[in-house]
Amino acid sequence: MDFIEHLKSSVDIVKVVGEYVRLKRAGGGPRWVGLCPFHTEKTPSFSVHQTHQFYKCFGCNAGGDVIRFIMEIERLSFMEAVKLLAERHGIPMPERREPADAESRLRAAILEMHEIAGRLFREALAAPEGAAAREYLARRGVSPTIAAEFGLGYAERSGQALLRRLQSEGFNEQQLEASGLVLRRQDGSGFYDRFRNRLMFPIHSESGKIIAFAGRALSAEDEPKYLNSPETPVYTKSRVVYNLHRAKDEIRKCGYSVLVEGYMDVIGLHAAGIRPVVASCGTALTNWQVRSLKRHAGEVIVNFDPDEAGGNAAERSIQLLLEESAQVRVLELEGGLDPDEYVKQSGVEVYRQKLE
Ligand SMILES: [Zn+2]
Repeated sequence: MDFIEHLKSSVDIVKVVGEYVRLKRAGGGPRWVGLCPFHTEKTPSFSVHQTHQFYKCFGCNAGGDVIRFIMEIERLSFMEAVKLLAERHGIPMPERREPADAESRLRAAILEMHEIAGRLFREALAAPEGAAAREYLARRGVSPTIAAEFGLGYAERSGQALLRRLQSEGFNEQQLEASGLVLRRQDGSGFYDRFRNRLMFPIHSESGKIIAFAGRALSAEDEPKYLNSPETPVYTKSRVVYNLHRAKDEIRKCGYSVLVEGYMDVIGLHAAGIRPVVASCGTALTNWQVRSLKRHAGEVIVNFDPDEAGGNAAERSIQLLLEESAQVRVLELEGGLDPDEYVKQSGVEVYRQKLE
């Protein structure tokens, strides 16, 4: 049996799809049904067949085996999907004989660079140079444990540390530039780090890989306040929901997600014990993001900042959520506080009651 067949017979498509889509067994048989993750619908036309190990949507004609599903939902090449499934299920991959295509190799390099960057930023946060970032976190009530859980880090100010690390690991110029982690000097004489003197928030894919960063300025004169990774071969902003990989199990359990505006709101609520919480990644909410949430629970509780910008963002988001036929609830907190401030001031129980 070749490896692909071995892999397909070792994983259960119902379990794999079930991590992304809420499935219900149809009448005790081998067929499971749910809302299609690939198009907008109110009644399920998406089904997964346990015996035959395939999925099929009668609404949009999506269909295939477990590898096709992972390719479509994670937007990966065939070999990347195989690798992800094998890794996730602890199935050792055979040594590859054929070299991967150039595009997959570049994406793999970029993912590796993000892992390295994440590690470097975490080390720097713990080092003397990370003092200002640690003070900021302490001021915002983020404990070292929570900072570690979210993989927070610090990008030092010289603009050379990450570049040097990546070069010493042997990444070439094309890979460096495509990663979005460094910028080319205008005079063409090499590169420098995109993120400098910033508190770093890693952004993960739904499968938990670091695919981008957001960096918060630590000094008032640095603009913008939040700097995000550009779009890269591994990062499409409009398709990523911040913290979804951590929150998705809780979202299913609770039957709702709590949508907030900022990274710090996510972290603050999570630290207080509110787990089904996510944010859009520094953009207005998109259809794709709404569908990602709806795959896990039909209800979305919107809890944006009480200022005008937050109000406008909430209004746009609500329209979009309704368009995508999600159930929407808006949480308004008294006292003009954002969610993070509110749980700190009023306590998590009061906040929890508002959710229920
Ligand atoms: Zn469909």
